[in-house]
Amino acid sequence: MKITIADLLEPLARAGEVVVFTGAGLSADSGIPTFRDGSTGLWANIDPEEVASIEGFENNPDKVWAWHESMRSLFAEVQPNTGHEGIAALEALLPNARVTVITQNIDGLHQAAGSTRVLEIHGSVLRIRCHRHCGFVEHWLAGHAAPRRCPSCGAPARPDVVWFGEALDQDVFSLAAQATLDADVFFTVGTSAIVQPAASLAMAAKEYGALLIEVNPYETPFSVHADYAVRSGASEFFPALWKDLSKIVGEPGGQNASKRVD
Ligand code: NAD
Repeated sequence: MKITIADLLEPLARAGEVVVFTGAGLSADSGIPTFRDGSTGLWANIDPEEVASIEGFENNPDKVWAWHESMRSLFAEVQPNTGHEGIAALEALLPNARVTVITQNIDGLHQAAGSTRVLEIHGSVLRIRCHRHCGFVEHWLAGHAAPRRCPSCGAPARPDVVWFGEALDQDVFSLAAQATLDADVFFTVGTSAIVQPAASLAMAAKEYGALLIEVNPYETPFSVHADYAVRSGASEFFPALWKDLSKIVGEPGGQNASKRVD
């Protein structure tokens, strides 16, 4: 039997681990096109193999840098939306829970909104690193030219983004997998849930007993597995959830607010 939004509130209020798994749709209302937005998408007139793969980087690093620089400058102009903010606000509203954000996004908007535990399984275009993994990682500041060589070992430097065909960072993915297995409530938000292995996390959460909630205006291959499918944008849903939930657990710092008992 499918549940309703009112049924989410008690499980959330009781949860010890809440996971919010996010994709490009969450940032759509901030003005960042999603992957599969047709003619307006970031990938509309571009061959992903040329700009987001190791082969593309080795064949034409200037083209790869230019494409990432254009994303970097787009991201520098946008702000988190009420979806990012509502997710970040869950931390204060649920002080007894650990709220883990697992994101496929590379735009840094969760941290900008105030989320404190963010696992970026596809990396971030706000950082650069050594292509040879010597340990060099640095913030890529807006408006600053990134070094093309690693200052530590001289190998090529590159955006700290996971490209097509590349393995995910194992340390980050292990943390994501652990949070998934521990999850009492698992939201999948703004993702078409077809990019693997990231999408397999949501299935694992369900198998390990989490309540699974999909937030997406459109149906996805994943919808049939969700306990509750929210057919609205994330920027409408999370503020509404926050409002309803705060009536049960009390506003942060308010008289009825729940407190962590250590
Ligand atoms: P996707 O583009 O494949 O799917 C986006 C999903 O978001 C769709 O199912 C769509 O229906 C839904 N959506 C659209 N507007 C929404 C809204 N307002 N609220 C909630 N959902 C909404 O994205 P994906 O599944 O994340 O896979 C794309 C890959 O591309 C990811 O690996 C990601 O790293 C990368 N990417 C990242 C960004 C970013 O960092 N902002 C942007 C584009 C692509």
